[in-house]
Amino acid sequence: MNPERRGESYDVIVVGAGPAGSTTAREAASRGLKVLLIDRSLEIGVPDKCGEFIPSLEEMRRLAPKAERLEELFDPPGWCILNRTRRVRFNFPGDVEVSIPLKGVVVERKLYDKYLAVEAARAGAELMPNAKAIAPTSSGVLIKHYGKTIEIQAKVVVAADGTYSPTARRGGLPVPRDPYDYAVGYQHEMADVDQDPATIEMYFGERYAPGAYAWIIPKGRDIANIGVGARTPYMKPGLSVRDYFRRFVERHPKASEMLGKAESTAVKVGFIPVSGPLRRTYGDDIIAVGDAAGQTIPSVGGGVPTALICGRIAGWALAQHLLEGKPLKVYEDEWRRQLGETLENSLKIRRMGDLLLASDRRFNLAVKMGWVDEETIMKGVLCRIDSKIRLIEGTLLRVLRR
Ligand SMILES: Cc1cc2nc3c(=O)[nH]c(=O)nc-3n(C[C@H](O)[C@H](O)[C@H](O)COP(=O)(O)OP(=O)(O)OC[C@H]3O[C@@H](n4cnc5c(N)ncnc54)[C@H](O)[C@@H]3O)c2cc1C
Repeated sequence: MNPERRGESYDVIVVGAGPAGSTTAREAASRGLKVLLIDRSLEIGVPDKCGEFIPSLEEMRRLAPKAERLEELFDPPGWCILNRTRRVRFNFPGDVEVSIPLKGVVVERKLYDKYLAVEAARAGAELMPNAKAIAPTSSGVLIKHYGKTIEIQAKVVVAADGTYSPTARRGGLPVPRDPYDYAVGYQHEMADVDQDPATIEMYFGERYAPGAYAWIIPKGRDIANIGVGARTPYMKPGLSVRDYFRRFVERHPKASEMLGKAESTAVKVGFIPVSGPLRRTYGDDIIAVGDAAGQTIPSVGGGVPTALICGRIAGWALAQHLLEGKPLKVYEDEWRRQLGETLENSLKIRRMGDLLLASDRRFNLAVKMGWVDEETIMKGVLCRIDSKIRLIEGTLLRVLRR
């Protein structure tokens, strides 16, 4: 097919060929819908902005116990996988370290996103790179393509265009604007890192990563993604996330040792929604999926797994709507059924983290109270809220109210 000639009318236009959009397109096309998947990039998957860590199938089953058929989603092809990690070490202020076992893979996102888009094409979706959505219209989407503005008709528009989604916002969905709801991630890919390739390092504390955390995610023997996540309301006036990154690389007592000889091979910057999902992820003829819907895991900012899960549900729901006459609300009902509890718990844990890590002094108190141990951290990572976590939450709120 001539790649520069497209039809004028589709069942579904998916805006954004990231993990959410490509998975939605694949599922919808495989169910018999006529789907167009567009992306503003010249090449799908480029540029990527990601730490590139994806938990293993085993861990995903623990993290999202109600999500279905995970084995179909968490089996990336070997040629996308650069490294396998086995544990995560949490480095807290005051030299407090907690290691937990957690298996996962580090993928090359450029390859992985391309693979997901190829799978969508194989299922029957049409692909259109270099096509930037300007806004949804009453009958489709206005697109800028090779310098021309054109309208393509569709019965339903899928906003999968990532954080701050202009498509979702212009389509009337309640995309949050509060700076507390977003972290900015500033990352270099670096070579010659002195690291254990099986261990992901996470670093917390107001001095290096206010409102989020810094990370070293090994991509191989001595290559890693090194990043700092921060939220602007927590940052000192006059300092940018890049300043925090420099401080982390040069002065963090442990990280600076690992990075003393490292050289950069790429720089990546992006925003991550940590607000929890939008209040409503569907409208009259529109749904939002992935970061566009705020479906990232708020406590860690990981959004690839949830984009895959929600993308598949979105494709199913589009078929229910367009082929069976069901309301688009089935999309929201279903993703909340499969993933809602995980995301709600994660948001609570992020809020507790905000309280605990707002100052290093407060965090030291938490250590003295015996709240920072392997068992509690593991529960936090798996988004489990039990009596101990509730007790910590209650105590924190009582102390802060005083
Ligand atoms: C620095 C950083 C590190 C991260 N590390 C991790 C990690 O290790 N693990 C993890 O799980 N998550 C991580 N995340 C989050 C993760 O990258 C996202 O949650 C994930 O990519 C969401 O997928 P998505 O498909 O919703 O959106 P995206 O991957 O952002 O895809 C959106 C797509 O929409 C396209 N687009 C945007 N606007 C338009 C438009 N107007 N018209 C057409 N196309 C458009 C873009 O080109 C893009 O291809 C990280 C994020 C950042 C910023």
